[in-house]
Amino acid sequence: MFKHEKQLIREVKIEKPNSTYANLMQDQLGGANGELTAALTYFIQSFRVENKEIKDLFLDIAAEEFGHAEMVAQTINLLNGKNVDAPPATCGSVEASVVSRLTPMLSNASGCLWTAAYVNETGDLAADLLTNIANEQRAKTTYENLYRQIEDKYVRETIQFLLQREEAHNTMFRQAFNRILESGSLKDWGDTEDARFYLNLSTPGQYFGDLKDPKAPEFTDPDPGSNDKKN
Ligand code: MN
Ligand code: MN
Repeated sequence: MFKHEKQLIREVKIEKPNSTYANLMQDQLGGANGELTAALTYFIQSFRVENKEIKDLFLDIAAEEFGHAEMVAQTINLLNGKNVDAPPATCGSVEASVVSRLTPMLSNASGCLWTAAYVNETGDLAADLLTNIANEQRAKTTYENLYRQIEDKYVRETIQFLLQREEAHNTMFRQAFNRILESGSLKDWGDTEDARFYLNLSTPGQYFGDLKDPKAPEFTDPDPGSNDKKN
């Protein structure tokens, strides 16, 4: 069941409309690394998760990502001047200008529609958590790229908040990963000769070699002072 709270997670403001930049922000709504991708990835993955703590984490973060999508959409609205009769901006979203009367669209900054192909799920917790950690890293990087391209101090505050939340999610997913070591696709890591040899297929030079005693990927405690709840 879902409920909708009317207030945003954090208020969004702008100094002045900027439809060109509104179009860039579209990428964090309907782009590959955007909020909809994050929300629906964690949501769909959660359906197969048996570990109740990690299922809860996936659904809490999915719900927050929908809240981020609201913040991004509202920022796009403000940057577009909320004026549906405005002439199409020279570099603004052509798609939104001609199709949706400047309603924020589920498309990226180039007007390509959002696709479920952006979503990854495997049913294996280790693979899905590594996907999610990489998602969060890419989302933060995308926000950093957006931050560099705007002077508006209020838009910058919004982006700063959102990228810090993605950083928090990244840490939480790594904490979750540390709870499932030795399970699923992490089992029996490097047990066979085939899982240890290095094929040097380029000459000259070799900079990596055969593996001696490989361990499954794991993270050192991503938050040594953690409030990590354990029931
Ligand atoms: Mn987000
Ligand atoms: Mn996130």
